[in-house]
This record gives sequence, structure tokens and C-alpha cells, in this order.
Amino acid sequence: MHPGTPNSTHRTCLVPPQRLFLEGMRTVDVSLGPRSYPIFIGTKLLPSLGRHCAKLGLGRRCAVISDSNVARRYAKTALASLRAAGFEPVLITVPAGEKSKNLQTVLRCCGQLARHRLERNSFIVALGGGVVGDLAGFVAAAYLRGIAFVQVPTTLLAQVDSSVGGKVGVNLPAGKNLVGAFYQPRLVLCDLSALATLPARQLRAGLAEVIKYGIIRDAALFARLEKDLESLLALDPAALAGIVARCCEIKAGVVGQDERESGLRAILNFGHTIGHAIEAVSGYGKYLHGEAIAIGQVAAARLSVALSGLSAGEARRIETLLARAGLPVAIPLSARQQTRLLEAMRLDKKVSGGRTRFVLARRIGRVEAGYAAPPGLIAKVLRQAGRARHHPPHHGSR
Ligand code: NAD
Repeated sequence: MHPGTPNSTHRTCLVPPQRLFLEGMRTVDVSLGPRSYPIFIGTKLLPSLGRHCAKLGLGRRCAVISDSNVARRYAKTALASLRAAGFEPVLITVPAGEKSKNLQTVLRCCGQLARHRLERNSFIVALGGGVVGDLAGFVAAAYLRGIAFVQVPTTLLAQVDSSVGGKVGVNLPAGKNLVGAFYQPRLVLCDLSALATLPARQLRAGLAEVIKYGIIRDAALFARLEKDLESLLALDPAALAGIVARCCEIKAGVVGQDERESGLRAILNFGHTIGHAIEAVSGYGKYLHGEAIAIGQVAAARLSVALSGLSAGEARRIETLLARAGLPVAIPLSARQQTRLLEAMRLDKKVSGGRTRFVLARRIGRVEAGYAAPPGLIAKVLRQAGRARHHPPHHGSR
């Protein structure tokens, strides 16, 4: 499989952090009865972390779990804010990247929590992207049978997706996210200013999830993205705050109705069945998650034209918007790779009763889960994807 140019996460941002300042803070509530919590969205929020945590009525001891890239930039502010609010924080840093999302790292983190004598009323702050959020959330769920945790997401993907909804966990050699729990944070603090240091490629990968929310639930959001994409890529604070808040509202609404994915929550997987298979077959890390699901969404849109009544024009709008965001929309596949991809889809943990089920669109803004697609049609859609213009992962400027 030819994944395009290799993973590059080291480019620094072109946007000076001071541009990311906007007065005011938005709040989105995740309504889950006793497990409800707020998502605070705004710029320059990290210095208020301690103040927000102080309202939770927890003990003084806490641990900030972060990764090597994020800790170096943001741990000092987080720790200072917690100390100023009367907490006694310790910092636990794990190496950056998906390779840290495993049970060995969970063990190491739990060992450090025990050494620092964190107790039942102590809490964990997950400061980082989706890897740190999933890992630290799982540590929080497991340590002493569960202590409180707070999400401070620092990637766009984590701000609009992984920090909200309570899915936490780690990978096994046999596959991604195979060990985990549903465990909700006590609050989510989305500091949009952190995106100023995010590598451009990571920002674009997050946009794949943003675009997904428009497709699954909100045609007006999709149209707004078509209009405001350049402002988002330039990290315009007003555009960003509105869009991140809308995505969080959509996710909160879906999770509020179906916390444990027994029905509706499956719509969040639009583009993911094929996307996960692409990640697995191409070797984790070659495509970022967002890049793989961009290709998956284009393939799902084509399946939707054939099976669920999406118009060809709307399928083209989906492909065009993803391509404009600098995301790959096609993957060149040999016959052998195509067979492996179909096999990987059959092994996906969302397969039920041995049949792969797809989330497909009836129109932009409305999707439904549970479609079976004949293997011949999937292969045809993938062949189309293989023939289409291949947009390699984009490493350049925003
Ligand atoms: P990530 O956490 O690996 O972050 C991407 C890279 O950006 C890392 O190198 C990180 O160190 C760096 N980084 C993070 N914030 C930064 C910042 N502000 N400035 C500079 N560098 C920064 O990746 P991700 O895309 O955020 O998350 C992917 C993970 O999320 C996957 O493990 C996936 O399974 C998981 N996920 C979970 C859910 C869920 O519901 N729990 C949903 C989607 C994805």
C-alpha cells in the first residue's frame, strides 16, 4: 500500500498564539444524569484549569498525565494553575504517539499514582491529544477502581471528538482500543489557543471529524464549513470557537441519547469502517486517523449513492470539502491489498453477527446505521477510490 509521504508531526505552527484570543467562553453540557459534565470552550483557558477543578469538590492531590510534546509546552501552566487553586499536582509524562497507548504504560502510570499516594478523592488531568485522553481516562477508570478525571484536549480531534463521550482505553497487539471502558470525565476544558502549536497535518486530520459532524447531523454546519474552511485553517478564533462548540453539541447530543453505543451512537462511525481497515492494513501510523477516515468517508459517500439515496452531487460536495481541507480522498490499492482491506473490515470490532454494517448517508445532515453492503460493491467503490485523484497527506502550510 502506498500511503503517501511519511508521518510528519514536527512542523510548527505558522499562527502566532496571540491571534488566538477571543473574549468569552462557550459551555456545552453533556447530559447524562449523575454523570453529566460541562465542556468549556474558549481561548486562553488553561490558566483557569485550577479554578474549574476547584468547583468539583475533589481532594488536593492530583496527577497531570501528558505526553512529551504537550508537557514541554503546556504542563508548566497547568501545574501552576492547579497549585494556585490549592492542589498538589504531580506530572506524569509518557512518550508522544500512539505507541504509548498500551497496558504497559497503564501499569507505569498506576505505579506512579500509587507512589505519589493518590487516593480515592484524588483526580487525574489528561493534558494532550486523543492518545493521552484515552490512556489517562483508562488509568482513571482502573486506579483504585476509579478516580475522577478531567480532560484538557490539545488537538482538534480531541477537542471535537475523543475528549467527549467517555470512551477510554488502550490498544492490544491484536488491535486498536481493544481494552477499555465507558468512563466519563468530570469536565472538559477546550483551550483553542493550544491549537496554535499543533502541527498543520494534525489540524487537518481533526478537520476530517469536524466535516463528519456536518454529514451525520447538520447540513448547515456542512455549508458553513464549505464557506469558512480557510478561516478555520488559519485558526480564526471566532470561526473556530463556533465550529468546535457545534461539533461538541452534536457529539454531546448523540452521547446523551446513547452513552454505550447500543444504537444511535453508531452514527459517529460514518466513514470509520473503511477508515479503520485502511489504518490496519497500511500499518498504524502511516495514515493519521483523520486521514484514513477522510478516505473512508468518500468511500461511504459512494456506497450511500448506491444504497441509501445520497445524490451524486452531494457525494461530490463531501469529496471536494475533504480534499480542500488537504485530506487524502483516495487510496491506490493492488488487488491483494483490496482483499486484505475487505478482510480487515470483517475483523472490525463493530462487526455484528459476522456481517460488516455501514453507516450511510441519505443526504448531507442525515445518516443511518446498519446497512449491509455486498462485497462486490465495496470492492467496486474501493477500486473507484483507487482510480480517483490521490491526495497524499498534506504537510504544507495551513
Ligand atoms: P495524539 O494524541 O497522538 O496527538 C497527535 C500529535 O500531536 C502527538 O504527537 C502529540 O504529542 C501532538 N500534540 C498534541 N497536542 C499538541 C499541541 N497543542 N501542540 C503541539 N503538539 C501537540 O493524536 P490525536 O489525533 O489527538 O488522537 C488520536 C487518538 O484518539 C487515537 O488513539 C484514537 O484511537 C483516539 N480516539 C478516541 C476517541 C474516543 O472517543 N475516545 C475518538 C477518536 C479518536
